[in-house]
Amino acid sequence: MLIVMHHSATDEQVRAVTDAVVAMGLTAEPIPGSLRTAIGVLGNQGYVDDTTIRELPGVREVIHVSKPYKLVSRDFHPKASIVEAGGVKFGDNQPPVIIAGPCSVESEEQMLAAARLVKEHGAHMLRGGAYKPRTGPHSFQGLGVEGLKYLRQAGDAEGLPVITEVMRIEQLENICRYSDVLQIGARNMQNFDLLKEAGKTGHPILLKRGMSATIEEFLSAAEYILSEGNPNVILCERGIRTFEKTTRNTLDLSVVPLIREMSHLPIVVDPSHATGRRSLVGPMAKAAIVVGAHGIMVEVHPDPDKALCDGAQSLDGDGFGELVAELNRLIPLLEEL
Ligand code: PEP
Ligand code: MN
Repeated sequence: MLIVMHHSATDEQVRAVTDAVVAMGLTAEPIPGSLRTAIGVLGNQGYVDDTTIRELPGVREVIHVSKPYKLVSRDFHPKASIVEAGGVKFGDNQPPVIIAGPCSVESEEQMLAAARLVKEHGAHMLRGGAYKPRTGPHSFQGLGVEGLKYLRQAGDAEGLPVITEVMRIEQLENICRYSDVLQIGARNMQNFDLLKEAGKTGHPILLKRGMSATIEEFLSAAEYILSEGNPNVILCERGIRTFEKTTRNTLDLSVVPLIREMSHLPIVVDPSHATGRRSLVGPMAKAAIVVGAHGIMVEVHPDPDKALCDGAQSLDGDGFGELVAELNRLIPLLEEL
C-alpha cells in the first residue's frame, strides 16, 4: 500500500500517519518527494483496510499495490536509482558500463592476459568465475579461493573493479573480500537463503534472471535483497529458455524497457550466455544498448578455443575491440535522440 500525502501536509501529519501504520502492526517507510511525501507500507500479507488511514489529516490518496515486490518498484521509488559498484556507476544518464572477461578464472597468466586485453579495449569492469555452476559434475568447477585471488590481482594490475559469482552462503565472506560486486547467477536467482545473506552483506549485487523466471519472479528475487536493507542491486537479463535450440537461450530484450518502467533498479544485458554464439554477441550487445540497457556483460578470452568454459560464446581481444569501437560510435548517436 502507498499513502500519498497532500503537498501541504505537515511533518506532524506525516508522523501521525506513520504512527497509525505502525499501530496496525505494519512498517511505514516515508518517501519524500519534491512535490509531496508518500509513505510506503510494508509487511502486509493481503489487502489492508485503509479506512482509518484515509481519514487522517493530510492524506491525499491511498494506493493499493498488489504486487509482491514493493521496494524494487517504481511505485515506491519513482526516481531511477544509480548503483555504484567498485567506483563504476550503473543507471540513467551514465555511460553504459562494459563488463568483460572470461567465463572462468583458469590461471594467474590467463587472468592477467584477459585483464590486459579488456582494459586495453575499454572495459570498465573485469569478470571471471571462481565458482562455476556447471551442468555436469565432470566439467571444470572453478579454482575457488585461488581463482578469487587471481581475479583480484588481475583487476588491480589494470585498475579494473571485479565481479564474480557466489553460489553458496559460505562463499560470501571470501567473495566480499576479493570482489567489488557479487554475481548471483541464473541458477541461483531463487535461492532465497543466498539472496537474504547476500543482501545482508550490503555489497553491490548483480542479479541474473533465472532461465525460466517470469519478470515478477525476477523482481521478487531482487526484493529479497532490498528487504535486507541493501539497495545496491543491478539486474541482468541473460536470456530465457524457450523451445528454440539453435541459440543457447532466447534473449528477451523487451524486458529492458519494461523493467525500466516497472523498477527503479538499473538493468544490464549479457548477450554471451543469452546467445551462446560468438557471432551473435556483438549484434545483441548493440541492440541491448539501443533499447536502454545500462551496461553489458560479455565473455572475452585471450584464446577462446582453449577456454575451459564457454569458449564458443567468448570473443577474443580483436572481436571485443571491434565491439567496443562500434559501441563508442553508437552511444553518442543515442544521446542525440
Ligand atoms: C556466468 O555469468 O558465468 C554464468 C554462469 O551465467 P548465468 O548464471 O547467466 O548462466
Ligand atoms: Mn560462461
